[in-house]
Amino acid sequence: MSKVLIVGAGGVGSVVVHKCAQVPEVFSEIVLASRTVAKCEAIRDSVRQRTGRDIEVTAVDADNVAAMTALINRVKPALVLNVALPYQDLPIMDACLAAGADYLDTANYEPPDEARFSYTWQWPYHDKFKAQGLMALLGSGFDPGVTNVYCAYAAKHYFDEIHYVDILDANAGDHGHPFATNFNPEINIREVTARGKYWENGQWLETEPLSVKQSFDFPRIGPRNAYLMYHEELESLVKNIKGLKRIRFWMTFSDNYLKHLEVLRNVGMTGITPVEFEGHQIIPLQFLKALLPDPASLGPRTKGKTCIGNVIEGIKDGKPRKIYIYNICDHEECYREVGSQAISYTTGVPAMIGAMMMLTNAWRGQGVFNMEQLDPDPFMAALNRYGLPWEVKEL
Ligand code: NDP
Repeated sequence: MSKVLIVGAGGVGSVVVHKCAQVPEVFSEIVLASRTVAKCEAIRDSVRQRTGRDIEVTAVDADNVAAMTALINRVKPALVLNVALPYQDLPIMDACLAAGADYLDTANYEPPDEARFSYTWQWPYHDKFKAQGLMALLGSGFDPGVTNVYCAYAAKHYFDEIHYVDILDANAGDHGHPFATNFNPEINIREVTARGKYWENGQWLETEPLSVKQSFDFPRIGPRNAYLMYHEELESLVKNIKGLKRIRFWMTFSDNYLKHLEVLRNVGMTGITPVEFEGHQIIPLQFLKALLPDPASLGPRTKGKTCIGNVIEGIKDGKPRKIYIYNICDHEECYREVGSQAISYTTGVPAMIGAMMMLTNAWRGQGVFNMEQLDPDPFMAALNRYGLPWEVKEL
């Protein structure tokens, strides 16, 4: 029985709160804090209607370490679950250290003025968390998150050595808008327009943005073009999966999405450098975000499935082996259950499970951890139980 403080009332935050509310034996009290309290209230009302449970809501500016620390000191949660934006990771970690609370997030830190997400800012917190006997779990979403745990599970049960990993993320959902992103548009477009990067034979190799593609036949979706991108789990898996020769990340995009993105990029709308407009400094990408549909509003209109998984090759008992481990998630089923589309769902459920692992001491440690460093078995069992069942195919 534990009290949890959830920060961020966006698409992912809504799923996390609904899923925690479904498990009162672990999450006995839930407090939701975010910048705009009206969004917290809407989630509170939905949770009350769907589960009959009451949660506390409050406003906080998580960039303000003193305000965050005061909130943690008042609420006294066993764990702070951060599903605000990556920019808030460091201030919330600082507040957890100041107030003495465990920490969990779903995306690694990236500075607002530089599109470069990396663990290099959060890993150095290891000694500080360890010194206080606290635990921080990084990247407990789907990718990163479940994809890391898939690697750990494969290493434990299927391979003596893992040599090649391809992580493939397909969203075949249709929301009916000409152009929209499935999670925060600013974070999503920064990620997609960055240079591609993968790791092979001990070094990082870079590619032009979305210039390398392969067709992959996704179960229950069919063949789709998947584009090579840099993604944050690659950085930790290269460190933690021993013997790896190559790891890459691929994501599907429709031709329509790519056409819109190309035009927006060509006219400068995806830029993050401030421009002067009628006496105001505006950041083009933030202005674009204001025009695009709120990802949290896509739930009622998105149909179709997502399929995210890992193709893993290596050696078992001296013989080559290749497996595909994956989850399929249906947008409309997610909406029926928690009022959100599948991208928010596939992120929010692993965030709840990661928190559950920590609060029940199934996962315990002192310092800062990535998902693949912990025992995959209880997490994999919980995925089957709480809405993200997985399958393994021998290839
Ligand atoms: P949203 O933009 O929908 O939600 C973010 C929420 O954080 C908003 O409610 C926002 O408030 C709040 N927020 C922003 N700044 C602050 C602040 N300074 N203080 C307090 N609250 C703040 O994003 P998503 O829900 O789509 O994404 C949430 C996180 O999940 C992101 O970090 C994203 O990168 C991550 N993610 C991870 C994935 C994974 O698989 N690992 C996949 C998808 C997303 P307001 O409402 O006022 O704007």
